[in-house]
Amino acid sequence: MKWLEELEWLAYSEEKSGSFCKYCVIFSHSKNVGKGAHQITGALVTQAFSNLKKAKEMFRKHENFTYHKKSVLNAENTKSIFTKKTESVINQVNAQRRLDIEKNRKRLTPIIQTIRFCGRQQIAVRGHRESGRIFGLEESEKSDGNFRSLLGY
Ligand SMILES: [Zn+2]
Repeated sequence: MKWLEELEWLAYSEEKSGSFCKYCVIFSHSKNVGKGAHQITGALVTQAFSNLKKAKEMFRKHENFTYHKKSVLNAENTKSIFTKKTESVINQVNAQRRLDIEKNRKRLTPIIQTIRFCGRQQIAVRGHRESGRIFGLEESEKSDGNFRSLLGY
């Protein structure tokens, strides 16, 4: 009971008569782990651990495995997503993407309106200079065409 209270990752299975690392059972997907998949998960992950004499040593060893650290990290991330403290990575990326799309659509509106205006009034769009920053009406370059000047306006 003391170990179960001390180690957050430790769980006991009455059915299997042994202990498991609850994070590695869930988040360590492969039987072979570690660099180059040379490490094989066993006790505490795929098999119940019940050797109480070697428990402390085994628990300490297990805590230092890279796959255990990764599993704990995954568990913490999953917990924070489920408790809505953090958005999932996909949602974070999608939220940024949605903002970019919205921003770009807003930028397109004056460009399309200007082109339509020029077309409707049958005025030339091009000027002598068609690149660089578009300035406001007061600062507008004299060589800017109607399109760029209207956009500045
Ligand atoms: Zn573990």
